[in-house]
Amino acid sequence: MSDTTIEKLKCLIIGSGPAGYTAAIYAARADMNPVMYTGMEPGGQLTTTTEVDNFPGYPEGIDGPTMMVQLQQQAERFGTKVRIGMATAVEFSHDKGGWHKVTIDNNTEVHAKTVIIATGATAKYLGLPSEQRLRGGGVSACAVCDGFFYRGQDVAIVGAGDTAAEEATYLANICKNVTMLVRKDYMRASKAMQHRVENTPNITVMYNTEVDEVLGDQVVEGLRMVNNQTKEKTDIAITGLFIAIGHKPNTDIFKGQLDMDDAGYLITMGKTAKTNLPGVFACGDVQDKEYRQAITAAGSGCMAALDAERYLTTLEA
Ligand SMILES: Cc1cc2nc3c(=O)[nH]c(=O)nc-3n(C[C@H](O)[C@H](O)[C@H](O)COP(=O)(O)OP(=O)(O)OC[C@H]3O[C@@H](n4cnc5c(N)ncnc54)[C@H](O)[C@@H]3O)c2cc1C
Repeated sequence: MSDTTIEKLKCLIIGSGPAGYTAAIYAARADMNPVMYTGMEPGGQLTTTTEVDNFPGYPEGIDGPTMMVQLQQQAERFGTKVRIGMATAVEFSHDKGGWHKVTIDNNTEVHAKTVIIATGATAKYLGLPSEQRLRGGGVSACAVCDGFFYRGQDVAIVGAGDTAAEEATYLANICKNVTMLVRKDYMRASKAMQHRVENTPNITVMYNTEVDEVLGDQVVEGLRMVNNQTKEKTDIAITGLFIAIGHKPNTDIFKGQLDMDDAGYLITMGKTAKTNLPGVFACGDVQDKEYRQAITAAGSGCMAALDAERYLTTLEA
């Protein structure tokens, strides 16, 4: 491809969740003419949930897909070009002011002075057919997001790490009883978190225990657990099942180009959205394994656009 036929952009945004769209709104209003590629999940993780009750500005709550369509419309109102497509390869410049090369769908190259990465993280699920069928009907991968819908009710959580332990104690504060399923005969969580779980009277930890089947037709009504040592199966009545077995940040294509932590989350510098390369910024869950909320993702999307705008200004000076 000749260099003259390659599209040159001031700002390319990769990913269309709350972080990407918020970055797009700010970048578009700053005349950066952003182009966004949506990836395989236009709208991001919130399109997999029915009700979002905790995003400020929606007193009655809103369903996730509708909220994401509204964010898209807001970004497009200011001129953001939203395109369906996956970033499949990147070749980032190490020089200030250099062109960052991004390949879309293995066949189109775009060059951008600034790239805002908002590719999110994907929650891991167990992969059982009954679990997949009941996602959004009582099966959730986010206790902080959806726990409130099960207040005063019996729920279960699967996982053994710090996040699972933290989410179990979070649920214990609002739900009646929490059954925690741990696959091994010990928890991976820190000793401090284990003690918190053990000292919470309404959490029952079931070691050597896995999900055999989630019970219910339209909504979760119960759980069939199996002891992986004795193979004994036990049914319990629950209305919510929380899967807390980890997330995978969507950063495979950035490996070897950008600094990441051991789990693959992009590292940003201090209180900024700057990565280790000039002109490349990251926002949302792809760089945040701590909070993982739509509002924090949106906030960091704003930061990424402001950082990108300031970077462009320094190039013009
Ligand atoms: C079931 C569930 C319910 C939730 N409920 C709530 C809630 O009620 N309230 C709340 O605040 N939070 C909730 N969350 C968390 C919230 O969805 C996330 O924190 C938020 O969506 C993160 O936004 P993001 O923009 O960083 O990434 P994401 O929403 O993960 O979006 C990532 C985007 O990147 C795109 N992408 C990935 N790879 C590529 C690529 N190579 N090229 C181009 N695009 C790419 C994807 O297609 C997607 O559009 C929930 C999460 C889940 C799973």
